[in-house]
Amino acid sequence: MKLPDGFEAYYKAWEEKIGAFLKWVPEKTGPTDVVVSATTDAAPPATEAAFLVKDLPFAVKDNIAVKDWTLSCGSKILEKLVAPYTATAVERITAFGAWVVGKTNMDEFGMGSSTDASALQRTNNPWDISRVAGGSSGGSAAAVAAGIVPFALGSDTGGSVRQPAAFCGIVGLKPTWGAVSRYGLVAYASSLEQIGVLSDTVARNRAVFALMRGADVRDQCSRDAPGSSPPLYGNDGNKAKPGTIGVLKPESLAEAILRGGNQTGISHGGLSEAVYRGFERAKQNLVTLGYKLVDVDLPCLKYAVPAYYTIATAEASANLARFDGIRYGQRPPVPENPDELVEKSRDLGFGGEVKLRILLGTFVLRSGFQDRYYLRAQRIRAGIKRSFENLLGTDSAESAPGHVDAILLPVFPTQAFGRGDTGLSPFAQKAADIYTCSANLAGLPALAFPASLEDGLPVGVQLLGRSFSEGMLFDIAERYEKVHPFPHPAGWKPFYSASTESQQ
Ligand code: GLN
Repeated sequence: MKLPDGFEAYYKAWEEKIGAFLKWVPEKTGPTDVVVSATTDAAPPATEAAFLVKDLPFAVKDNIAVKDWTLSCGSKILEKLVAPYTATAVERITAFGAWVVGKTNMDEFGMGSSTDASALQRTNNPWDISRVAGGSSGGSAAAVAAGIVPFALGSDTGGSVRQPAAFCGIVGLKPTWGAVSRYGLVAYASSLEQIGVLSDTVARNRAVFALMRGADVRDQCSRDAPGSSPPLYGNDGNKAKPGTIGVLKPESLAEAILRGGNQTGISHGGLSEAVYRGFERAKQNLVTLGYKLVDVDLPCLKYAVPAYYTIATAEASANLARFDGIRYGQRPPVPENPDELVEKSRDLGFGGEVKLRILLGTFVLRSGFQDRYYLRAQRIRAGIKRSFENLLGTDSAESAPGHVDAILLPVFPTQAFGRGDTGLSPFAQKAADIYTCSANLAGLPALAFPASLEDGLPVGVQLLGRSFSEGMLFDIAERYEKVHPFPHPAGWKPFYSASTESQQ
């Protein structure tokens, strides 16, 4: 299998500008020993799903394993690590004829919102190369937005699929926790993260998710969607029947005001002028499509970021303990003794952001401090989950009376930001995770899609739903896309047809 004629020049021209890939192998050389792992998923993936991925190249974030390929996680410490096996999610997609064409850049171990925390290279936004692509799955998002690949895999621990998707004007899904096997994903914060899909269209996103989801014996936390959940395909009755969407109240948004860092252009309850405009436009467009919008209040949202960073760093400090220069990755040339070997490997191998988070994580887990930080964060997490359940209900089938079908939220308070003075400080970037990290804390699915172009840059919004309601979120976004097709950056060429009628 090869890429279309003229494609290599197209790739080169884009890649020089955006730096999305850490590895590029433009021929179908990927894993040869693909075995589809046992799945109890009752329904075979729809033909339409297979059609939208078949024979297509896709990219994989460099923290997801592809056998015999590097698995750097954007870190010096793993720069030369070669994966001994392939992630289940990748296997399930390649089993349908798609093939991995490259590994994409990312914030080191998924820690960041710009991909600038990669220790290996810089990735730029295809809409404006002076801006970041977002993160941590910035390489995957930039590659899809530039039209190099029709879809890519990323991981979302606190927004890392949805935020770069919003920055680059594409579709990004963070599945229900447990819907997709994490086997082969290098762990950052296990209780929060999922492998997600970044794609050019909603139909493609749905297709990739349909192929890779489902229980996997190699991830004991993975499971099939309950029979009562909205189907991914064949839900035409529902498509014809728009429901009710809860919209976060402006007063709640006001509570989300970014604190610290560079606040230039921040207004409207924490949203930049352009993001506010895009969000309002999305609301109007959904009303025009027939959805009933109701204001909802989520006061607990203001605790989401501190709870997220407490839990994520605690889990990261444990998960990253394995990188010691003995079992994995780089080791310094002349270690004097084992202690020094570990200390030097970690000191030289990890970047500043990773070290900061490991220190924070060990601090919140320190004996005597757990009550004050970690356990309190877990209680807040339970409260956030309950607030969402109160709004959405827990039954995965139809919404109960008084419940909404989905909740509409902004993705990030700003559009893709620049670097230096036009950027966001590391603290402001963390505070800005407010809209994304609550879906991870609650384990709920969330789908980001482009709402509009404002000032020449995309603005994304996201729909959050009940557990295993991805089918319903896709239906809403697809209706939106039909009337408001997603735009592409200058220089984009359609190498991959997104419709089932014609396929290049
Ligand atoms: N910005 C978040 C963080 O830095 C998102 C990370 C992610 O989803 N991997 O933790």
